[in-house]
Amino acid sequence: MIKFQSVKNHIEKLDKKYLWHPFTQMKEWAEENHLIITEGRGSFLKDITGKWYIDGVSSIWVTVHGHRKKEINDAIKDQVDKISHSTLLGLTHPPAVILAEKLVKLVVARRAVPLRLNRVFYSDNGSTAVEIGLKMAFQYWRHKGIKSKKTFLSLNNGYHGDTIGAVSVGGVDLFHNIFSPLLFKTYKAPSPYCYRCEPGKELRSCRLYCLQAMEKIMHKHHKEIAALIIEPLVQGAGGMIVAPAGYLKQVRKLCSKYDILMIADEVATGFGRTGKMFACEHENVSPDILCIAKGITGGYLPLAATITTEEIYRAFLGEFRELKTFFHGHTYTGNQLACAAAIANIDLFKKEKTLQKMRKKIESLGKELDKIKEFQHVGDIRQKGFMAGIELVKNKKTKEPYPLEEKMGWKVCLRARENGLIIRPLGNVVVLMPPLSISQQELKSLVRITAEAVRVVTG
Ligand SMILES: *Cc1c(COP(=O)(O)O)cnc(C)c1O
Repeated sequence: MIKFQSVKNHIEKLDKKYLWHPFTQMKEWAEENHLIITEGRGSFLKDITGKWYIDGVSSIWVTVHGHRKKEINDAIKDQVDKISHSTLLGLTHPPAVILAEKLVKLVVARRAVPLRLNRVFYSDNGSTAVEIGLKMAFQYWRHKGIKSKKTFLSLNNGYHGDTIGAVSVGGVDLFHNIFSPLLFKTYKAPSPYCYRCEPGKELRSCRLYCLQAMEKIMHKHHKEIAALIIEPLVQGAGGMIVAPAGYLKQVRKLCSKYDILMIADEVATGFGRTGKMFACEHENVSPDILCIAKGITGGYLPLAATITTEEIYRAFLGEFRELKTFFHGHTYTGNQLACAAAIANIDLFKKEKTLQKMRKKIESLGKELDKIKEFQHVGDIRQKGFMAGIELVKNKKTKEPYPLEEKMGWKVCLRARENGLIIRPLGNVVVLMPPLSISQQELKSLVRITAEAVRVVTG
């Protein structure tokens, strides 16, 4: 015990001396105590003092089959004994090739409509997958001789990563406003955020007013718009905003009608998070460019892919002197270890019937969440598969939010932590996003601890 304590103090001291944490006000960080995670197993994380917690947000939306999953561990170990990294610049390797085929089959096999997504471009995180999608779309139109298409249409409350291009198409003011002088101009369509509907319509009578607003922009500016980028079905970091049924399908139709490429950013929603392998499947939508990352390696290693159609790919073919090459690539693009982990991750979906097993769990998550609905300070509960958000409000009738500086979301999460659950909020939205492999029992505990925390903190 004494040894633990001294190691813990040591790590904490060094952390505060040397680290700068992401999305963190470090002044506050320096004044607080923090969990030091040393181990994981299944749906749980262990801290340095030996206490176990449910990993209620899948270590920020990445863990799929649980921590320390034997098959993925073994795949990485096997790969380490061969080689850990070689480049895809001018060379190739088996894990990248085998994974690419698996990814294409995964995307294509699940559609009723014939799908043309069949070219895989690797990178190493969600932001780069998005940057690649944007640059591909832009350059595609250049090769087609249409030079006017040089901007993008994106959504309010959209989140696509933190690099400058990804922030340019982002729509979360809290994160993005300060950088506005650096960003390229894009068009912004309303968010399908029914609880706080931008035009102030009621869902049943609205006939998707937000889509009409989107079409207006497309109608007026389609000659300038290379692509639309959207998080299918759920705007994640914007607050777990679930689009109404039919919305995505209409977006696809509008893109086709106005000759705008559709980029689906499935970095968060991909790999089973919404109950299907990819969120686009819910509405049988086929994007022109698909960005995936987070869950691709089961939450083990950084890897991402941008998958596109033969049509887009072919536009880049030519003699070298024509300079049609896609001049983009990251040093760790298609890393061998990460690809090996991703192959094992995908194989596990079949072996463990992950998606089938989720159906019941999704239903029971919904039922458990229903019990929180009546709470006095719970304004809205949104859920799609294993992506859920509980929006806390100061006044349920007027939907008045808590002021940000009250940090209600954080307070709820800290309370939950005392009871053995790690979650992380998005402002006033308490996020639940457990590993797909979580058991019914663990799922129940997760909601029970969350409900208790909400009740105590807002009560
Ligand atoms: C997390 C996320 C990204 C960015 O991914 P990083 O790996 O953090 O760069 C992009 N798009 C969506 C929808 C995300 O949720």
